[in-house]
Formats: sequence, C-alpha cells, structure tokens
Amino acid sequence: MVWKYVCVLALAAMLLLAFSTVSRSKVPRIKEPPGASQIPSQFTEEERVAMKEALQGAIQIPTVSFSAEESNTTALAEFGEYIQKVFPTVFNTSFIQHEVVGEYSYLFTVQGSDPTLQPYMLMAHFDVVPPGEGWEVPPFSGLERDGFIYGRGTLDNKNSVMAILQALKLLLIRNYIPRRSFFIVLGHDEEITGKNGAQKISALLQARGVQLAFIVDECGFILDGFIPNLEKPFAQISVSEKGGINLMMEVNMTPGHSSAPPEETSIGILAAAVSRLEQTPMPNMFGEGPLKITLEHLANEFPFPINIVLGNLWLFQPLISRLMERNYIMNALVRTTTALTMFNAGVKVNVIPQQAQATVNFRIHPAQTVQEVLELIKNIVADDRVQYHVLNAFDPLPISPSDDQALGYQLLRRTIQSVFPEINIVVPGICIANTDSRHFVNLSAGIYQFNPVYLQPQSFSSIHGINEKISVQAYETQVKFIFEFIQNADIDRMPVSHWHEL
Ligand SMILES: [Zn+2]
Repeated sequence: MVWKYVCVLALAAMLLLAFSTVSRSKVPRIKEPPGASQIPSQFTEEERVAMKEALQGAIQIPTVSFSAEESNTTALAEFGEYIQKVFPTVFNTSFIQHEVVGEYSYLFTVQGSDPTLQPYMLMAHFDVVPPGEGWEVPPFSGLERDGFIYGRGTLDNKNSVMAILQALKLLLIRNYIPRRSFFIVLGHDEEITGKNGAQKISALLQARGVQLAFIVDECGFILDGFIPNLEKPFAQISVSEKGGINLMMEVNMTPGHSSAPPEETSIGILAAAVSRLEQTPMPNMFGEGPLKITLEHLANEFPFPINIVLGNLWLFQPLISRLMERNYIMNALVRTTTALTMFNAGVKVNVIPQQAQATVNFRIHPAQTVQEVLELIKNIVADDRVQYHVLNAFDPLPISPSDDQALGYQLLRRTIQSVFPEINIVVPGICIANTDSRHFVNLSAGIYQFNPVYLQPQSFSSIHGINEKISVQAYETQVKFIFEFIQNADIDRMPVSHWHEL
C-alpha cells in the first residue's frame, strides 16, 4: 500500500515540476554568527569527570513516582540533600535564593544585575517513572558502559536537572554575574501531573506578580532518524504541547450467576464501547498547528520528489496527512490519540459483575479542546449505559511565537548554532508528551521545550521504556549548551535578523 502512494507521489511530482515552487523563502537557515559567550564554554578534565560523576550519583537515587498517591518520598528528600552537597556554590551564592516548595520541589531565583530585563525560567524534573523489567544494567546503577551512562532518568529528565545546576555552578566559579534574572524550577512530581511541585511554584510566582520573557523546559530534541528519507538530524523546539484527558468509563448492570447469563453484561458493553473508541481514530488535524510549518521548513532537506511534494502542501496535504498516519509517532502529531490503559471488572469466575470500569488516556491535538474531544468520545461510543468520569483533563498549550523577534526561540536557535554547528535546521514543533510547563501558561506567552540532546528512535523508546541512557559526550554537550544559553540570555533583545530573506 505504501508503494502505491510513493508511485502517486512520484507521478504527481513529475507533473508538477514544470511549474512548482520549491519552498525556499521560508527555510530558516542560520546565517549570522552565533552570539559569542563572554566566558568560553571550555571545561577542565577534572570538571568533566566531576560533572559525569555528579550525574551518575543523581541517577542512583530512585526518585520514583509510582502513582498519583505514591512516590518514593525518602528518595525525593535524599535528592534535595544530594544537590546541596554537589552544588554548594549554587546554594551559597548571595544573589541566588532557593526555596523548597511542596516539600520536595526546588525554586531558585537568580537575581540579575539589570532589573529592566524581564526574567526567564529554566525547568526540569527529577522524579522518574518506575523502571520496569528487562534492563541490561540495574536501572538505578548509573553505570558507565561503552561511553554511556545508563539508568532511569538519564534522558527524562535528571540530565536537565543536573546540567542546569552544573552549568550554573561552572559559571559561578568563573565569577559570572547574570544581567537578566532567571528562575530555575526543579519539579519532583512531573510524572504524576506536577500538582504538588510545578503547580504550586506557578501559584507562588503568580502571587508575586512575576511575568516571564520565556520558559525553557524539556521535550524537544535534536531528532535523528525519525523521518524516513530525511538523513540530516534537525533540532525541533516544541512551541506547543498536546493536552490530555484521563477518562474513566463505567458500566453498571444487574449482577448475576454465570449459569444463567443475560444477553449483555457490564463487561461486554464496556468492552464494545472501548473497542469502538480504539477502532475509530479521532479526526486527522494535519494542517492545523505547527506541524505544517515544520514540514515546510524541512522540505528542501528531502530528496526528490519529496521536496517538491512538501514544498507544495497546498496540493499534497491530503496525501501527506494520510501517509503520516501510518507511522505511530507521526500519527501522534496529526491527531488526538486514544490509548486504552486500564480495564477492571469481575472478582470471581462464576459471578457476572455489576460493574466494569476502563480508563482511557487521550492526548489532545493543539487544534482541539477538552470539550470538543469529550463530545467526540460520546458520539463514537453512542451508548447511554456508559458513564463518564473525567479523572483529569487539560487543554493543549497555546502556540508560542517562533518568529525572528521571539526572544526565547531565537536564543535557543543561536545557542544550537554555536554548540551544534553541524545542525543547520531548526524547526518549531509539537511536544506529544506532557510536561510541567503547562502549569505556567499564565506566566509567559513563550513556552519552549528543548533538550539539547540527539535523540534516535531507539532512545525515544527508552524514555519510559528500558535501557535509558545518555552518552558522556552528550551530557557534557548539554552542560555546555546551558552554560552558553544563560550567557546568551543576557542580551537586551533580538537584533533585527535577515535570516528569513534567504
Ligand atoms: Zn519528563
């Protein structure tokens, strides 16, 4: 079937070639020199060893969020003590205040020398999901093997927690004083909604009247090998994040003995309902949201004829949107996804239970809302016997600006250019996971998500999967990135740029 589409694509591309336009004008190729950091991002051998060991130590603390009710609080407390021990400079500098919020999360306020510059925020979280079975090395060993540090949290997201503190420490011992103030938020319950950490910190900052120039959180990566036919890795800065609904569905029927069963049971009715949801995908929203812009930016990097097709989405949009559905990661970018995650019913082999319950997790496309998706769900299920209980729900994040005056986006882009000179494509994208940054929409119109780390499909599945790891080199580069980023953020505003004129 795929071949059929490829042939159609090729044929259409040939026909178009005579009059088509290869989208050149919008490609944000980076031209201007990077903003030179005042303090060079060069670290001694001793510092490099220390930063690696600091990360290994952080991985060894099993800060697991098991469920909304259960966390390893001993480990969370231990983690707080650990960062104070490893980064005394950060905790003892006069212009940095730290507060513990919601018992375990950390808020740092780094006072800049120029109060006229609007502050920004760096975010990360140090809780992790349970490791699961089947690891090559113990998941909380932080073991180094073949140049990689293994362990739960090496990509999601202790790497960022430690790299932020590490970069700040290295700047401080080089006598750096920032011009622009910034906050650092280190959440302890991101994996279980962030309601005790990030959400409380957000409330605290709102009560203090804080408004932020921009926020940088986890999620975007340098994506390598995710898109078929696109050989070059590219940096994706997420400018929006999918929303979500955890929906519990319930059916109650008269209980009975299995020797004389009724025509329909609670289990059968609910199973049919969730099956209809699974078999009926939510509508394909390709063309709405940042994905179309992303593809237009990438068009020139594809070989012929895909470059022509992507450069002319006005014509090929229906075809591309259907092709994207076929890949499970791409599919998550074009629609609200439906995942059946829990099903509970029955206690005894010969008893027909009264009640059946199922939980379904929806990740909402940026062009839809919670209300719209709930309506769709009810229409698809179309059975009044099914009751709905929204366990929690939130709308997608608004789309943050990525134009040439968008300070946060452009600072990320510049730092990418400096630290990853081999990367010449930076595109806005959507985060398909959920992060703590959604608690901060009232504080800033510019929420960006970027982890300065290469990600391959295999490492993507290790996040919340098994054998999560980061190379020592990649971690050092992440520290270097934040070290430069903090200095780059001291700029007053983005100079008028002409990169879009290429
Ligand atoms: Zn995470």
